[in-house]
Amino acid sequence: MIDLTNKTALVTGAGGGIGAATAKVLAENGADVVITDIVDSIEQVAADVENRGGAALAHEMDVTDEAAVDDVVEAAQTEFGSIDILANVAGIFPTHTLEEMTKDDWRTVIDINLNGTFNCTSAVYPVMKEQGGGRIVNISSAAGGQIGWSGDLSHYAASKGGVLGFTRSAALDLASDGISINAIIPGLIDTGAPQAVATEEELEAGIQMTPVGRMGEPEEVANAVAFLGSDAASYVTGAALVVDGGYTKV
Ligand code: NAP
Repeated sequence: MIDLTNKTALVTGAGGGIGAATAKVLAENGADVVITDIVDSIEQVAADVENRGGAALAHEMDVTDEAAVDDVVEAAQTEFGSIDILANVAGIFPTHTLEEMTKDDWRTVIDINLNGTFNCTSAVYPVMKEQGGGRIVNISSAAGGQIGWSGDLSHYAASKGGVLGFTRSAALDLASDGISINAIIPGLIDTGAPQAVATEEELEAGIQMTPVGRMGEPEEVANAVAFLGSDAASYVTGAALVVDGGYTKV
């Protein structure tokens, strides 16, 4: 039973497919949600959260901007008094072969996907420590540890592999503060983002290689975030939960 009543969650990338679904599923399970992203759609997500019975606070926040992250953490505490769940969802996955990849391409992906996860985690950590616990959920990728996926995603794979290593090691660090930190490894999820970088043929090949025979829905990842953010996962930390329709088991 997942019960997030009286919990406050901060979700990054909450204007996107998985992030918006996460905000809504957390609210359906009783949480109040701080909705952050660099896109305008956070206002609509805030309305959706409120329609599901949760209080919502929408804030523009770039995960690479340390001052902005600190401001949002402070605003969340002022509004709700605690931050119980941090869902690090914000991410980008542009494609570049190594030959065409510039140093800026590399740095941008690492900065948003890996450093952004660190920035938000380290800003929320003192709050969770002070309140005696919390749950952090990071979004990795099958490309970050399970498979190569595609030759033009080496910066992305490095960033998502970094998220997995960070999660495992930080779990040892944070356990004595009552804070769990886990990762989710999604497969191909139907958010529009894979469609933006892959051809129709590549997507169809990915679906063919997925034993359940379809892309995942954003809500199917969000449900895993809700589980790892809840007391139902009280003995789970440093784990990586694969949500991929069996893709990486073939
Ligand atoms: P999405 O719809 O593009 O959502 C990601 C959101 O993060 C977007 O709103 C994006 O804004 C935002 N964002 C980008 N840079 C940011 C920054 N610096 N600060 C704050 N927000 C920023 O993608 P998604 O499919 O939901 O993916 C969500 C997460 O799941 C990502 O970390 C992704 O790597 C991971 N993932 C996705 C899949 C999949 O198949 N969809 C598979 C494995 C892992 P813009 O639209 O302006 O970029």
